[in-house]
Amino acid sequence: MDPINQQILLVSRPEGEPTVDNFQLVETPLPDLGEGQVLVRHHYLSLDPYMRGRMNEGRSYAQPQPLGEVMIGGTAGEVIASRHPDFAVGDAVVGMGGWQQYQRVDANQRGVLKKVDTTHIPLSAYLGAVGMPGVTAWYGLTQIIAPRAGETVVVSAASGAVGAVVGQLAKARGARAVGLAGGPEKCAYVSSELGFDACIDYRQHPDLKSLGAALKAACPNGIDGHFENVGGMILDAVMLRANAFSRVALCGMIAGYNGEPIPMHNPSLILVNRMMLQGFIVSEHMALWPQALQELGTEVASGRLKYRETVAQGLASAPEAFLGLLKGRNFGKQLVKLV
Ligand code: NDP
Repeated sequence: MDPINQQILLVSRPEGEPTVDNFQLVETPLPDLGEGQVLVRHHYLSLDPYMRGRMNEGRSYAQPQPLGEVMIGGTAGEVIASRHPDFAVGDAVVGMGGWQQYQRVDANQRGVLKKVDTTHIPLSAYLGAVGMPGVTAWYGLTQIIAPRAGETVVVSAASGAVGAVVGQLAKARGARAVGLAGGPEKCAYVSSELGFDACIDYRQHPDLKSLGAALKAACPNGIDGHFENVGGMILDAVMLRANAFSRVALCGMIAGYNGEPIPMHNPSLILVNRMMLQGFIVSEHMALWPQALQELGTEVASGRLKYRETVAQGLASAPEAFLGLLKGRNFGKQLVKLV
């Protein structure tokens, strides 16, 4: 075992767009294990849009990431040393190990480390379709939108880790699924491989009128459910096509994560159409995770639920890959492979 642990720290807070200079790669010696502790070697880091919010100082639903500490984040790896009876060398595990090669975990703390079965589900999927992004999709779709067969469900960032699952779960429930994604390649994937009924390349529609017309063509019966990952003009365009009693799951507003204004131009439509808009944070609904993961795991293992990954190589590539995620350079779940 390499006695050195490479880590990436957050060393400054961005103003507007983050840069690689907000991060620093350091090397620290690996500490010895205490009683009840487990040493995990990370195979994959998960990069997620919420990390952008944690880089800010301000108050949000979660604490800011402290400066000078290892950048937070989901991880998947293997146990390489254990002084805890529940964990053995070789166990595949997921946790919140952050941007580093190894993590020493106090395994007595409930829920910090979870063993996973990689017989039918690849380890990396536990950070995507069978992990937090998948549960996010499941929660917003089933608990907020709750589509009925024949209804139309729209999802933005449709080729991404969350969006791809939303549309496929909607289809499995007999709904019509329409995606919005950036670029022809992503849209072709969403329609042909993920099986959505249609996908709109929003980059071809730079103004509200044009995007509205594309949505009208793709959703001839209007929109009954919308899963919002982006905000701004996309949400405005969807609202204009929303049916009476439609439901919007407000999951993310990535178009505004660097502080860009994302006004809502027609909030009166909420009243006129008696709409329901519900924001949610997936980590506040832990009681439903087992149910969600059961469905997601079964679907991925059977090959029915498809997903795609963009994998950056090596810890040092994490900052650049993260900046790319915020610009849509990822295609599917963004990971960093360390082993
Ligand atoms: P994705 O894999 O979808 O990656 C982000 C995608 O967002 C990019 O690929 C890009 O896709 C799109 N994007 C980036 N910037 C913009 C922009 N300015 N305008 C329009 N689209 C943009 O990420 P996830 O699936 O992990 O996350 C999707 C959303 O879900 C995010 O908003 C995230 O914050 C949210 N989320 C919320 C959770 C909750 O509990 N509420 C939990 C997990 C995620 P494209 O090229 O198609 O535009």
